[in-house]
Amino acid sequence: MTHSPRRTYLITGGSGFVGSHLTDALLARGDSVVVLDDLSTGRLANLTPHPNLRFVQGSVLDTLMVDELVRQCDVVVHLAAAVGVKLILKEPLRSFVTNIRGTETVIEAAHRYRRKILVTSTSEIYGKNAGDALTESADRILGSPALAKWSYSTAKAVDEILANTYHKERGLPTIVVRLFNTVGPRQSPAYGMVVPALVRQAVTGLPLTVYGDGTQTRCFAHVEDVADGLVRLLDHEGAVGQTFNIGANHEVSILELAKLIVEMTDSTSGVELVPYGEAYGEGFEDMVRRVPDTTKLRELTGWSPRRTLEDILTETIAEARAELAAPRR
Ligand code: UDP
Repeated sequence: MTHSPRRTYLITGGSGFVGSHLTDALLARGDSVVVLDDLSTGRLANLTPHPNLRFVQGSVLDTLMVDELVRQCDVVVHLAAAVGVKLILKEPLRSFVTNIRGTETVIEAAHRYRRKILVTSTSEIYGKNAGDALTESADRILGSPALAKWSYSTAKAVDEILANTYHKERGLPTIVVRLFNTVGPRQSPAYGMVVPALVRQAVTGLPLTVYGDGTQTRCFAHVEDVADGLVRLLDHEGAVGQTFNIGANHEVSILELAKLIVEMTDSTSGVELVPYGEAYGEGFEDMVRRVPDTTKLRELTGWSPRRTLEDILTETIAEARAELAAPRR
C-alpha cells in the first residue's frame, strides 16, 4: 500500500455524517481537503476548522462549480446524495434526480481532468436479498420501481454503472463502495436512522419505536471504521475498477438493539412496535436481513472493523446526552 502525502481530496457531501469523518481522517494524516456540500443534510458544525480544509457551499448539480473544484483537486470522493429512508420517501423526485444527475456531473468532471474517483453506493443495492453474508456479486432483488424506496436503490445502481462503464470504456480510475449501516457520532436523528432515533428516545424517556415486529436484522459499523476503509481503498491501486462492501459483521435484530439501548441508558422507556405502514406509509417494503461479506476489502487492504456495537452505543449515548444538556444549533 502506498500513500503519496499531501494530496488534495475533493469530498462532495463532506460536511455530512460519513464525509466529515473521512475529512478528519485525511486531514489527520497531512492531506488537504476541499468539501463541496449544499448543507441540505450536512452541517457546518460537523467540520472543525483546519488550515488544510476549505469548505465550499454548493450543489453537485452545479456543473461549473463541480468542474472548477475537480480541476483543483487530485482525487475525488463522491458522497453527496439524498439519503435516509424518510427523506427519500418524502422527496422521491428530488432525491432521484440528485442521486443520478449529481453523480453523472461529478464523474464527467473527474473524466475531464483524469482524476481518480471513489463513488459511494449502498447496501440498498441488494434490495430484498436476505441471503447469508452478501458478497459484491450477490443478486439484487427489488420490489416495484413505483415504490420510492426502491428508486433509491435504482439510482445508486445507475451511479455504479456510470462509474464502472467510465472505467471500462474510458479508462477512468474509479472505485465503487457499498456502505452498509453506518452509525456513530454526528449522525443526525432527523432523517429517521434507527440508532440516533432510538438513542434519543431512550435518553428523553420516550418509547423506542421499533418498526414491524423488530425481527429484521442489520449490522452496524462505526463511522470511523468506515472512514478507515475508504482511506485504505483510496490508497490502494488494486482497488481501481472494483466494487467493495464496507460494513460490520455483527448481526443484531432491531428489537435486540432497542433492548440493548434501554439497558445501556438505564432508561425507563418501553419498546413500542409500530406497523411499517404507520412508520413509512402503506406498501413499504423493508429488508428483513442485511449482512455484508467484507472478505474482498479485508483481503485487499487488511481492513476489519475495530469498534463493537457497545462501543458505538456508548459514544452515541454520550453525544445524545451532551446535546440534551446543550442543544446543537
Ligand atoms: N427502524 C426502526 N425504528 C426507527 C427507525 C428505523 O425500527 O425509529 C428500523 C427500520 O425499519 C429498519 C432498521 O430499523 O428495519 C434500520 O433502519 P435505518 O433507517 O437506520 O437503515 P436502513 O437499514 O433501513 O437503511
